[in-house]
Amino acid sequence: MKIAVLKEQAAGETRVALTPETAKKFIALGAEVSVETGAGETAAIADSAFRDAGASVGPAAEVVKDAGIVLGVRAPDPAALSGAKPGAKVAALFDPFRDGARVEAYASAGYEALSMEFMPRITRAQSMDVLSSQSNLSGYKAVIAAADQYGRAFPMMMTAAGTVQAARVFIMGVGVAGLQAIATAKRLGAQVSATDVRSATREQIESLGAKAIFVEEGGIEGEGSGGYASEMSDEYKAAQAKLVSEHIAKQDIVITTALIPGRPAPRLVSDEQIASMKPGSVIFDLAVPQGGNVEGAVADELVTRHGVTIMGYANTPAQLAPDSSALFARNLYNFLSAFWDGEAGGPVLDEEIGDAVRLTQGGQVVNARLKDAG
Ligand code: NAD
Repeated sequence: MKIAVLKEQAAGETRVALTPETAKKFIALGAEVSVETGAGETAAIADSAFRDAGASVGPAAEVVKDAGIVLGVRAPDPAALSGAKPGAKVAALFDPFRDGARVEAYASAGYEALSMEFMPRITRAQSMDVLSSQSNLSGYKAVIAAADQYGRAFPMMMTAAGTVQAARVFIMGVGVAGLQAIATAKRLGAQVSATDVRSATREQIESLGAKAIFVEEGGIEGEGSGGYASEMSDEYKAAQAKLVSEHIAKQDIVITTALIPGRPAPRLVSDEQIASMKPGSVIFDLAVPQGGNVEGAVADELVTRHGVTIMGYANTPAQLAPDSSALFARNLYNFLSAFWDGEAGGPVLDEEIGDAVRLTQGGQVVNARLKDAG
């Protein structure tokens, strides 16, 4: 089975879906691995490192020729895959809820699109879950970027010239990114508080030594379905806005991470709340690519409102390309190798994971979750 990896085409995408480490492992399974020239460059991986691992490196057309599997960070344009085997498997991010046109194009081209965003949140798929691996790094980077933007120190410092107060950091949304953001801000010495709609996060926040800020009633019990939040009632939203208004005025840094699958990100911070913050405060909105949690946030821009800087990247994991690529590539390897069938010479997916991630097959859109969402 030939595995092909092309250079990412999306603007600002610095990651790559294969590393020399995973190339070597795929080859050990019996696969042939081919990488487009320069595919690893922005993630600090030289073509020679792929060659040393046993992969071939060359132009795109040669790389995809007769490939049975294509790996990507973002799904390539299916037009770029001509020459691949009919029905080839393509494992990548497809952004399926928002990029219906790409899903349709994959169906028409006859490829088997495997959407890494749809990896089920079950224990055995944890090591295959790119959303978790990339969110983890994003939570870290958001705090580092906000700390860099903030004109003051994070830790309390008692010096001969007087005391510097610790920064107050508030994390909104305590999933994978939020937990890492709490841990990172704590490590930098900030006073950290956090909130979420899922009640299970209260203990997680406290176990990291941060203060939990919670609406007492109407939240989601436990972990929520599959660990995901849903749209909250109007009463809950009003209670949350009141609680946030009281708390946010005292914060120096706010990191927002709240997402709802298949929906725009919930709006958590209003212009009025921004106006209540001290000048010089910083808000980092990790949900900017999904529409943003913060009023006025614009991807890749520093917006100043009422003296407060609002920031967020269109692609946060791409800011840490060597690490995010290494984890992404391992997720892909863990996924495909778990189903590798020596006789078939490639992966044979089971129902639970295969049906969850498969978007298109045999010329049709076949994904139940996508069809349910209309
Ligand atoms: P996510 O990216 O979907 O959302 C981020 C956070 O925002 C979530 O905690 C969510 O509850 C919160 N949120 C949504 N709306 C909000 C609102 N209005 N106000 C405040 N917060 C709001 O979540 P995630 O990081 O992918 O993970 C969520 C959970 O799933 C975690 O508990 C994680 O451990 C679990 N998980 C499990 C697996 C697995 O078992 N394989 C994999 C990934 C995640």
